[in-house]
Amino acid sequence: MAGTQAPKGSYFVEAGWILASGAEGPQLLRGGTIQVENDRIVAVSGDQLVGEGPRLSLPDQLLMPGLISGHTHVASATPTRGLIEGGRSFSRPIKLMETLSDDELDDLTAFNLAEVLKAGCTTQVEMSLSLRQAESYVRVAGAWGARGFPGGMIPGTSRLEGIWFRKDDQALFDSVPDTLKEIAENFEFGKKYMGIHEGRIMPMMAPHATDTHTDETMAAIIEAAAVLGTGIQIHLSQRDTETDAVRRLHDGLSPTQWLEKLGGFAGPFFGAHMMALDWETDPEILKRHGAVFAHCPSAGGAGGATQPYPEALAAGIATNIAIDTHSNDLIENIKLAVIAGKVRAKLIGAPKAKLPTIWGAVDGATVVAADGLRRPDLGRIEVGAKADFITLDLSDWFVGAGALPPEPLNNLLYANGSIVRHVAVDGHFLVFDGALTVAQEDDVFVRGAVVHKKLWKQLMDEEWFTPTPR
Ligand SMILES: [Zn+2]
Repeated sequence: MAGTQAPKGSYFVEAGWILASGAEGPQLLRGGTIQVENDRIVAVSGDQLVGEGPRLSLPDQLLMPGLISGHTHVASATPTRGLIEGGRSFSRPIKLMETLSDDELDDLTAFNLAEVLKAGCTTQVEMSLSLRQAESYVRVAGAWGARGFPGGMIPGTSRLEGIWFRKDDQALFDSVPDTLKEIAENFEFGKKYMGIHEGRIMPMMAPHATDTHTDETMAAIIEAAAVLGTGIQIHLSQRDTETDAVRRLHDGLSPTQWLEKLGGFAGPFFGAHMMALDWETDPEILKRHGAVFAHCPSAGGAGGATQPYPEALAAGIATNIAIDTHSNDLIENIKLAVIAGKVRAKLIGAPKAKLPTIWGAVDGATVVAADGLRRPDLGRIEVGAKADFITLDLSDWFVGAGALPPEPLNNLLYANGSIVRHVAVDGHFLVFDGALTVAQEDDVFVRGAVVHKKLWKQLMDEEWFTPTPR
């Protein structure tokens, strides 16, 4: 494809395979075509479509919906990548990010968002670790044309540790006035940016977790979310200490029960991790409200703990595959979800665990997430849907076999983000033939490196790397 220009406006894309909506869910069309007009898909066919206009011909590629990550912390992925695996707390590198200038923060956001996009994730449910990082996300994602549902995590990184890792609940009660202030600031952020960039930026409220809030602060978040109308994203029951703290503070209720009591599931709801869910009581509540479990195989870094994806599938909870942080490669995370999930499911066994499949994981990263966002125009290749799509080369070394494969989704189990060739949002190509079109890729790379080196230098000066864990 080198040398070919990215088409715009009204155009056709022909692909070896198309993963399109069918009567009974997604289906593969061999040798199909889609027609795009501005921001929409206006025709989908399993044959050639005739008509005037530019035509992109991709006979060795799979065209599928743009991926949706139900949980990201875009700017902070690389500052912890390759460091968290040593087993240390990553709170220091994350805190150092708050000492960066706005320009440096934008360079970090740009580096990470470039990776997110290049690996085919077109929509991010983005929990920025501070309001400053959320502002940075809106600047970069907005200018580049990515689709995002951003919010600043509350409490943000600079206040989080003292509340989350408290020895005494008094620290939580004492945090209320400052947390209410953060809620008000994030609500203003939400109102200010709602619907900008032709509706691609849609802020959400993003409480950190249930054990870092009180009745008063969580109620204030739920009230703000109701006004914004975009819902809530949160880390939910991410470890035993969270579930224990909520039971202690709220008459024995689980985090999910407590949120339901406060009305937290009135709108879209994305909960990440769910390691310490109450499997007796919570699945029914989550299902009743159409809440989505954002399952992040790379949470905890490469080789971190496995997570209850097979249990969520067995319980029938709507489950998305998401990035979280450290890795920005959603294709790789889809692969990891299936592989690690199969191992875990075999260890636990039925009926508590269900074996994941690649079809289910792809569904989770597209249709399931779109439905959770109450956005039937996303996550699908169908007439009338937003023209958010990606194409992948499944014939290449290590992933394919030199030709278009007969069952292409299975080849994703050998893939990573480097096989993504084209990425379009609202019909605009943000990545074309594997390279960013919306910024000078080399420039984004070099500028990101400067900030990473500055963070590592500071950590070295503080002897954070000593001793080296082996
Ligand atoms: Zn997270």
